Amino acid sequence: GESLTLGGVTYRYGRSRTATTPAGLGPLDLRVEAGEFLCVVGPSGSGKSTLLSLLAGFLRPQVGEIRLGDRPVTGPDPRLTLVQQEAALFPWRTVAGNVAFGLERLGLPRAERGARVAETLRLVGLEGYGPRRVHELSGGQRQRVSLARALALQPRLLLLDEPFSALDDRTRTVLADELLGIWWARKITVVFVTHNLEEALALGQRVVALRGGEVALDAPARELNVAR
Ligand code: ADP
Ligand code: ADP
Repeated sequence: GESLTLGGVTYRYGRSRTATTPAGLGPLDLRVEAGEFLCVVGPSGSGKSTLLSLLAGFLRPQVGEIRLGDRPVTGPDPRLTLVQQEAALFPWRTVAGNVAFGLERLGLPRAERGARVAETLRLVGLEGYGPRRVHELSGGQRQRVSLARALALQPRLLLLDEPFSALDDRTRTVLADELLGIWWARKITVVFVTHNLEEALALGQRVVALRGGEVALDAPARELNVAR
């Protein structure tokens, strides 16, 4: 498998580069093993979004390097996909159309696309929902579509940015369990970002806490979770 490594990764926003309390992230050293489920927690402003933007290739480190396996991540990369807090789905397209979107852009032939979409919808518990319009779905179902859209691309690394935070407790628990099942079945590497420590402890094998753009804690979840 391909491990994810960050070596001395630093990003500073705008004028803060010269400020005494610089806004941004790093220098950060982090290694995520292939197949690992890592939760990143931290209060607002601790650098979680900056980290995800760097991992997703939306921002480039000003210093340091991010590697997936033996190749650097230098921009949007087919080996990884991001699921965001509020699913940015196309409301006028069908569920299948939304899941197929990335596959169409990759130029996957229609038959293969159809098979991949159907398989992925099954994986997220939306079998038979392909022809439905997204605006008819519940919040939880929309997040499932969002997850399916990411998984259809068969990424090695799945990045999740507070994917369940807009959902009610029960739906969040159900989807979290399903995500664990998918992680287990697909053997993908997961980086799950949340400000909810409880969620991080329930989901992650390992928890990294950020504070002020630096790693304040990095430990196996079982060492932190007395209730588990
Ligand atoms: P989190 O996601 O944990 O809330 P962020 O990564 O958004 O944290 O922010 C990390 C730091 O960078 C904070 O000090 C924040 O104010 C600053 N920051 C984030 N985005 C910007 C931006 N676009 N311009 C300037 N500063 C920013
Ligand atoms: P729209 O373009 O309105 O979203 P479509 O359902 O025609 O509507 O979506 C087109 C994409 O979805 C195509 O890439 C097609 O391969 C895929 N697709 C459509 N229906 C299915 C289905 N039932 N199962 C799997 N994939 C489908």
